[in-house]
Amino acid sequence: MHHKTIAELSQELHSKKVSSVEVARHFLERIKRLDPQLNSMITVTEDHALQAAQAADQKLAQGQGGALTGIPIVQKDIFCTDGIKTSCGSKMLDNFIAPYDANVVTQLKAAGTVMLGKTNMDEFAMGSSNETSYYGAVKNPWDLERVPGGSSGGSAAAIAASLALGATGTDTGGSIRQPAGLCNITGLKPTYGRVSRYGMIAFASSLDQGGPFAKTVEDVALLLNAMAGFDERDSTSIDRPVPDYTTTLNDSIKGIRIGLPKEYFSEGLNNEVATVIEAAVKEYEKLGAVIQEITLPNTFLSAPAYYVIAPAECSSNLARYDGVRYGYRCAEPKDLEDLYKRTRSEGFGREVQRRIMIGTYALSAGYYDAYYLKAQKIRRLIRQDFDEAFKKVDVILSPTTPTPAFKLGEKMSDPISMYLSDIYTIAINLAGLPGMSLPAGFVNKLPIGMQLIGNLFGEAKLLNIGHAYQTVTDWHKRIPEGF
Ligand code: GLN
Repeated sequence: MHHKTIAELSQELHSKKVSSVEVARHFLERIKRLDPQLNSMITVTEDHALQAAQAADQKLAQGQGGALTGIPIVQKDIFCTDGIKTSCGSKMLDNFIAPYDANVVTQLKAAGTVMLGKTNMDEFAMGSSNETSYYGAVKNPWDLERVPGGSSGGSAAAIAASLALGATGTDTGGSIRQPAGLCNITGLKPTYGRVSRYGMIAFASSLDQGGPFAKTVEDVALLLNAMAGFDERDSTSIDRPVPDYTTTLNDSIKGIRIGLPKEYFSEGLNNEVATVIEAAVKEYEKLGAVIQEITLPNTFLSAPAYYVIAPAECSSNLARYDGVRYGYRCAEPKDLEDLYKRTRSEGFGREVQRRIMIGTYALSAGYYDAYYLKAQKIRRLIRQDFDEAFKKVDVILSPTTPTPAFKLGEKMSDPISMYLSDIYTIAINLAGLPGMSLPAGFVNKLPIGMQLIGNLFGEAKLLNIGHAYQTVTDWHKRIPEGF
């Protein structure tokens, strides 16, 4: 049952071959038995899941419900869940019980999904390896000595290990696509504004975007159908109709123009990863796509710009954690200043503190123009690169990451090398574009992801092109041993 796709299991639920309660029990048992090896979950919500499954079964018994009714999912612990702990991977929020549901949670509930629990993540979504979590590192199911990627590593590992069939993640600089790539699953970062950020704990608000994970493109389309849409509680949410993303999955991709950015295939890219991606490009040629080299000349500026803008926004967003309103509070503060200082230095981990320091510096009076303003100008240039490229091609194809999953601990003492593992994903957030990672092959038994980048609101096209690839390849069907 756990190796089925959402689309397959949905049919079985609707034809009453299996009940949602049976499905929920099956997956909860897997989590209990297998997750101790992975540490992908922060909270398991067994009672909540069984109640939701009963409600799903009632709907199904009446011949109602949709494609997601009764489907087991997990939520990244960055999404607020009413009455359930929402930690954001931080000691700061270890005691925080959210008083309301994030929009994404509401929408997925309304679609009938059954939430099994909340997934582990890098603290406040800052990281590329899931090692900055207060709850400990997550392990990659393909090799337990390696990272699953981050920051949505818990969600990606849980799907790869078939502990649930769908998951949510957030992507500020690559945190959906990078872990999807390293864990052999499919993950989509939608266009900025497509999925509401209401109730999604903020890291860098102009870059953060929630999106789905699943094993296949078709399943990702089903999840996106439920997650996308206008929400007046998020001022950057865009009021634009949501198409049914499954209806265009099987459109022909003959003649579709795919661009290969030369900057994404240059120095720094592991040779074996390059070979895998070249093979994927050949598959697209066989499917009738027209391949073209393109240039995104400002690519080299994306990491430097991101690592000014993201910390700047985080330093502002995280100012609210002061020990007064909610979250962690230090013991017996001497006075107000002591309360602030000790709460924040005891409640935040090292990486979060580093970002707050960098961001505060970049925004300070004497340096704002030199750093923050300059980074914003670079951001505009990066967006212009993509605007130019999309005059020539329909989608852009690249590797998701420069290397396969690295070893736990390998990059923890070297933040710059950690930051560079998002080198192919960061620019897409700066430009607000949609991007997807899907399984494209293996190097030394470790999965490699291929990234497809679309123009604004090009999700349907991305999913169509990704689905076409999955109809002629079976990388996405490979399951890690022992799971
Ligand atoms: N790895 C990047 C960072 O640490 C991106 C994280 C994310 O997308 N949330 O900021």
